[in-house]
Amino acid sequence: MAKRTPRRPSTPTRKPRAVYFFGAGRAQGRASMRDLLGGKGANLAEMTRLGIPVPAGFTISTRVCSEFYARGRKLGRELRAEVLAALAGVEKTMDGSFGSRASPLLVSVRSGARVSMPGMMDTVLNLGLNDETVEGLAAESGDRRFAFDSYRRFVQMYADVVLGIEREQFEALLGAKKRSRGVAEDNALSVDDLTELVGGYKELVRRETGSAFPDAPLKQLWGAISAVFDSWNTPRAIHYRKLNGIDDAWGTAVSVQAMVFGNLGDDSATGVAFTRDPATGERRFFGEFLPKAQGEDVVAGIRTPQPISRESGRSDSFQELMPAAYRELRDTAERLEKHYRDMQDLEFTIQRGRLWMLQTRNGKRTGQASVRIAVEMVREKLIDRDTALQRVDPEHLNQLLHPTLDPASTPPPIGEGLPASPGAACGAVVFDADAAVTKAAAGEAVILVRRETSPEDIHGMTVAQGILTELGGKTSHAAVVARGMGKCCVCGCSDLEFATDGKSVSIGGVEFREGDVLTIDGSSGYVFKGSVPTIESELGKEFKTLMGWADRARRLQVRANADTPADAELARRFGADGIGLCRTEHMFFQAERLLAVRRMILSETVAEREAALDEIQPMQREDFVGIFTAMSGLPVTIRLLDPPLHEFLPHDNEEIEHLASDLGIAVEELRRKVDDIREFNPMLGHRGCRLAITYPEIYRVQTRAIIEAACDCLAKGVRAKPEIMVPLVGGARELREIRNLIDAAAAEVIKQRGRRVRYSVGTMIEVPRAALNAGRIAEVADFFSFGTNDLTQMTMALSRDDSGRFLPEYLERGLLSDDPFVTLDLEGVGELIRIGLRTARRVKPGLKIGICGEHGGDPRSIAFCDANGFDYVSCSPFRVPIARLAGAQAALSSA
Ligand code: PEP
Ligand code: MG
Repeated sequence: MAKRTPRRPSTPTRKPRAVYFFGAGRAQGRASMRDLLGGKGANLAEMTRLGIPVPAGFTISTRVCSEFYARGRKLGRELRAEVLAALAGVEKTMDGSFGSRASPLLVSVRSGARVSMPGMMDTVLNLGLNDETVEGLAAESGDRRFAFDSYRRFVQMYADVVLGIEREQFEALLGAKKRSRGVAEDNALSVDDLTELVGGYKELVRRETGSAFPDAPLKQLWGAISAVFDSWNTPRAIHYRKLNGIDDAWGTAVSVQAMVFGNLGDDSATGVAFTRDPATGERRFFGEFLPKAQGEDVVAGIRTPQPISRESGRSDSFQELMPAAYRELRDTAERLEKHYRDMQDLEFTIQRGRLWMLQTRNGKRTGQASVRIAVEMVREKLIDRDTALQRVDPEHLNQLLHPTLDPASTPPPIGEGLPASPGAACGAVVFDADAAVTKAAAGEAVILVRRETSPEDIHGMTVAQGILTELGGKTSHAAVVARGMGKCCVCGCSDLEFATDGKSVSIGGVEFREGDVLTIDGSSGYVFKGSVPTIESELGKEFKTLMGWADRARRLQVRANADTPADAELARRFGADGIGLCRTEHMFFQAERLLAVRRMILSETVAEREAALDEIQPMQREDFVGIFTAMSGLPVTIRLLDPPLHEFLPHDNEEIEHLASDLGIAVEELRRKVDDIREFNPMLGHRGCRLAITYPEIYRVQTRAIIEAACDCLAKGVRAKPEIMVPLVGGARELREIRNLIDAAAAEVIKQRGRRVRYSVGTMIEVPRAALNAGRIAEVADFFSFGTNDLTQMTMALSRDDSGRFLPEYLERGLLSDDPFVTLDLEGVGELIRIGLRTARRVKPGLKIGICGEHGGDPRSIAFCDANGFDYVSCSPFRVPIARLAGAQAALSSA
């Protein structure tokens, strides 16, 4: 009899924990658990484990956030039990009692996603206060004013965040109270005033919601936890996620933590510090603090903060005012930086001289800072080179490549603020985010000028060239967000004086209304009237070092799309390994050259066309010589003419009249010629190699120009490596015919000149049929270059010129996850490319393969190319450094 396999006793499956406690050196979480606990929760746990002073608390996991939504935005009973158990642990650790008059424990309730979304979600502070516990707080602190002010702040914050009552209504009551007492500052109000205000606030809540303000601390707690989960889906949080590619499904964690108070007295303070300068990357302890202030005041930019470290010309730094706490903070910061091996952004509170750490996270930084910190940390042996390369976001390099103000033509500034995010920008002044969006949509460059910014302004900040604010320090919302976006920003500019109607601002006595132009320099903090010329920024030595490491790590070659000798020189300076696409029709964008091309396009006989081509040929030859010289021996892929005809034809009557006179023909004749060649679908029309099938003389003349240029270079001792590329090929027979034509024209020149020019002939793969036919085409081609602009257009039936009308809605509604003209559509276009690669390499294993569509400069598309064995990517010169780094990252992450 067959033996029966004994049945295993079933182990009851335990539901994973929902709540993770931390306090008194013990924590159930750790830094590696950020997906579950959010960045904030994971790091609070880690700091606690390290023995760093952190107020005790607990974190409710992101999994609970998903359950909360699955349950129709409700908290489950099991969660409540776990929260109560953890809360008891906090009471024990902090020696307080939640909801009791004696030693009342108050808590903060904060959001925290796995990647930081600064200021996007909600927070409630001082939770647990009611008419009873406020007396306990008064007794414990010995400061009734402080206790009742905390109560007033709590009711307002809770009503705003949890009950959805507009903050302005509370501000109005506060303003009225101050006016009735004839005082300007909140802290001039008496305990009685504050008590009355709390009563007034609660009355307002009853009027607005129809129910009493919840006095029971536990009821407050459940309300605040739900509200923080809810804040994952506010429009501004959704917008921020979209902007930063954060997955909507991740959810937020909620950290509930014992309150500590930075506003208890003169020996209390709150602040934000960075272990290195987030703007420049310089290794110096840097930050801002406010004495006698509560948590969010520094970040909100309501008061102008004081520096952490001693600065010349000031005597109000934290270092000078609280030297012992400063030393402890600096030591803690150093420890944290060593532990995390990255620059830390810290939030701290000093309560009666005692330091409490409230947060640590890897600090957001500018592109310059990012590169400098990565390189210097390798020198300090904190990280290795591979880690350094992976630390820098390739897109961030954009900031290093951005223009700065030309010192030779910079006028005296009219104002000065804090240099919060580098780069220079100029544009029309707008005073609100909606106006920024409207003007930007009309093609205007705008500078968003505000007293301060808040998360509600994100859409305006996104489209603005730069941001200028009156209030706030370098850690204020405007500064942090602008830096993250890589936009220039000047904040805390006290020279700004807004008119009472908010419709104009005076800066250093100069009045600006909406639409007036100003320039800001986020590197110096200066503000200028009008538009100031800019120059290219200098790439520092750290940039060169990092790029050198990237070049050693990457497998992919990085070429540039460059059409002129000037572009080729720029590409070389940015480290291009060659040119992957020289669009020969782009060589004719200057007015006098355009005429020659138009004459050629409009020719009706071979003789006419040859005459026009004779005009074009020397110009092209001259440019090719310039390009070959700039690239001195590196490969240069020259794509033969591919003019979508509509781009080169005159459009309106005025243009037609002009062109007719330039060509010396009658307007009517020109109109007829234009009508004759006008196409309904020019992108699918008479373009690319189809032109050469009907008018072979075009490619013949171009080939001659290329080979003659190579001969001219050889004669001067300059090596030239032309790769002649045929566009829009759909099949092998088509390419065979054109290749024969090219080879014959080249042979003729080589024979005439008696020089040995080496050239190759390849094709673009940009028509779906070519990708499907790649095996046969490979037999005729020396190389392939995927033209993913057209390949995307044709595979997705998505017009490059018209999709702007509806594509944004597809992205908005998640029907497409990325703009397919920016990041390769892996499901469709990517699949076609893979088919093409497989079949081509089966026929010709060593076939050189590249990409030259816009995707060649997109880091995620570059990772695809690396993973699929491409030889090179090609992109615009300014994206070459980005592609070099992205290529290194792709190689490292697949190693
Ligand atoms: C392409 O189609 O990807 C390409 C590089 O060619 P163009 O953009 O000139 O059509
Ligand atoms: Mg193309």
